[in-house]
Amino acid sequence: MCKGLDDDQVDEVFKQIKEELQLLSDNRRENSDESGILYDAHEKIRDILTEYNDTLRGRCAVCLEDFKDEDHKTLEKFSDRQDLVRVDTCFHKYHLKCLYRDWFMQRKIEKDEFGCEIIYKIPKHKKCPTCRRVVNDSEIDYIKSEYSKHPEVNDHAY
Ligand SMILES: [Zn+2]
Ligand SMILES: [Zn+2]
Repeated sequence: MCKGLDDDQVDEVFKQIKEELQLLSDNRRENSDESGILYDAHEKIRDILTEYNDTLRGRCAVCLEDFKDEDHKTLEKFSDRQDLVRVDTCFHKYHLKCLYRDWFMQRKIEKDEFGCEIIYKIPKHKKCPTCRRVVNDSEIDYIKSEYSKHPEVNDHAY
């Protein structure tokens, strides 16, 4: 889950996680509340990692545009790739449209240097574009259903 972060960032993430776990176990000692400590820990770690993906890695790995580029927000609607989705298991974030393109859309056929056509096939196994982890069906279904909420986008090749 640390792929996509450099060593310093990984250190920083671990430090934060350690502090949060310490806090959680301190709190637990004080009010002897045993319920949900693992759940809390999991939530905390998730928050930390998500935040790192948002701030330090605040770019979409598909189009390489910053997520927080305010200037681009007014240019287009959904097709400006503003909607963010997260590949749930590894916490990598993308513009919805970028991820959908990567997984489902046929690319335009290109010519190589000899004039032969290069055909890009739609990948059979969908992977996270950042860490190349094969994603599961529920993640794929989620992207499909989110994308289907935007029928105004109809370019099926890029
Ligand atoms: Zn993008
Ligand atoms: Zn990933």
